[in-house]
Amino acid sequence: MNRKSKVYIVGAGPGSGGLISLRAWQILRRADCVLYDRLIGPELLSLVPETAELLYVGKEHTKRSSKQNDINKLLIKKSRIHKTIVRLKGGDAMIFGRATEELKCLIGNNIDFEIVPGITAASAAAACAGVVLTDRNTASAVTFITGRTASGKKTDIDFKSLAKLNGTIVFYMAVENMRQICRKLVKSGLSAADKAIVVSNASLANQKIVSGTVSNIAEKCAKGNIAPPALLLIGKNCISRLWHNPLFGKKVLLTRDRLGNADFASKLSARGACAVSCPTFKIKDLTGKKEVKQIIERIKKFDWVFFTSPTGVKLFFNALKRLNKDSRIFASAKIACIGFETANALEDFGVSADFVPKKFTSSDLAKEFIKKYKPNGKKILLLRSAIADKLQLPGAKVKTVSIYTAEKLPQNCHLERSEGSLNGNFDWLTFASSFAVKCFFEDIDPKSVQNIKIASIGPTTAETLKKFGVKPTIEAKEYTIDGLIKAMMGVTEPRPLGSGNLFKNYD
Ligand code: SAH
Repeated sequence: MNRKSKVYIVGAGPGSGGLISLRAWQILRRADCVLYDRLIGPELLSLVPETAELLYVGKEHTKRSSKQNDINKLLIKKSRIHKTIVRLKGGDAMIFGRATEELKCLIGNNIDFEIVPGITAASAAAACAGVVLTDRNTASAVTFITGRTASGKKTDIDFKSLAKLNGTIVFYMAVENMRQICRKLVKSGLSAADKAIVVSNASLANQKIVSGTVSNIAEKCAKGNIAPPALLLIGKNCISRLWHNPLFGKKVLLTRDRLGNADFASKLSARGACAVSCPTFKIKDLTGKKEVKQIIERIKKFDWVFFTSPTGVKLFFNALKRLNKDSRIFASAKIACIGFETANALEDFGVSADFVPKKFTSSDLAKEFIKKYKPNGKKILLLRSAIADKLQLPGAKVKTVSIYTAEKLPQNCHLERSEGSLNGNFDWLTFASSFAVKCFFEDIDPKSVQNIKIASIGPTTAETLKKFGVKPTIEAKEYTIDGLIKAMMGVTEPRPLGSGNLFKNYD
């Protein structure tokens, strides 16, 4: 046994990258090996160092025992090789996570371990749907139950006691047996008119929320093609408190790259929106190129280093790590960032930006920079995307190095096929860059989105939209994803209480 090895049983939350604990994040950042389950999203796995061993151990619920033995064996094996082993489990590992078997194995084999709690699906779903799980007047208890044992096999759930509890009931693994569960509850004394809400893929891009009553929720879910993972919440208090949020129940199409969409989606799902991810391009890392490696060696000779996006920052620091280097390479070179999202990404690596312009475009960066620093004769290194606009800094000696590029993905032409017509099916179509606009409309006829509200992140993106004959409904005032969401929230429509259009689809 590697004497210093430790297994971290980490709760990964409902899947969205932002919904993990700081402790989980710290451990993932230094993991040597990660054994992860089926519901773990790519966003979280992207936190893990590139050198780490990633092992998918998702199990289908049929061959439970044999798979569990295999996982136990792997845990023992990997703790002999690695120092930091992460067993990454969806939600909270201690809730329907079969943690008992794994803990017994670790204790039995004298392997050191630590348990890091996670946000369980019930908490995530309640937050995304705006449901308060307990309430002093209407729900004095909340019960977590598995929906899987409810049919076929003999169940040990006492439905009569459950119906009497006067609380909120949360069924995990609820889709398969929803009809039987609801029927049994009503038979056991629960009112058929009690409220019910189902949240599938809570906090993820494909989150769906369906509301109804105990008597009709199963039917509505079947009509809405609700698939696992989903939770069924039942109780008098299971009504959404997000009705008045302008994005609640809105269907929003996202057109960034895969990880960008995931980040955007988690922000939208927290407002009860249903985001649909349609990555129009992928990011291609260019930091492995000779030019980048050479510039890293010479970086301290520059007066200023400019980063233009969070993606650039992450790829650059990953490259540094691969080369066994760290932020000390900058020495006295100062750092500028376009936008505080880029500056925040830099903070994650322990580096504070010296300059962030008030407005977040390349031309604003240049204008404000020149005014403030008069960079005549200064050596400036611009680390950016190969497809970005040119940066004009008259008088300065600017060296531009492309650290990544973006490549169009062909699949957005399948979008209409998978989602049906776009007009009438979506409320919002969002664009966070000119490049996304170009990729999207190369495959999609602008006419097919003419009834959808269009959100643009800033003036450059809006200009590109206009070239395709598309007029943005809103343009963000602050050119960030948060700014974009804020601008979308500003568009309110009169809506009678209780009539989210998400639910309209399933009525
Ligand atoms: N340990 C996990 C539960 C694992 S059991 C936790 O604490 O959340 C798997 C079940 O969890 C799924 O069938 C589903 O009911 C629920 N679940 C997990 N992630 C979910 C998500 N993002 N949205 C809705 N339900 C989810």
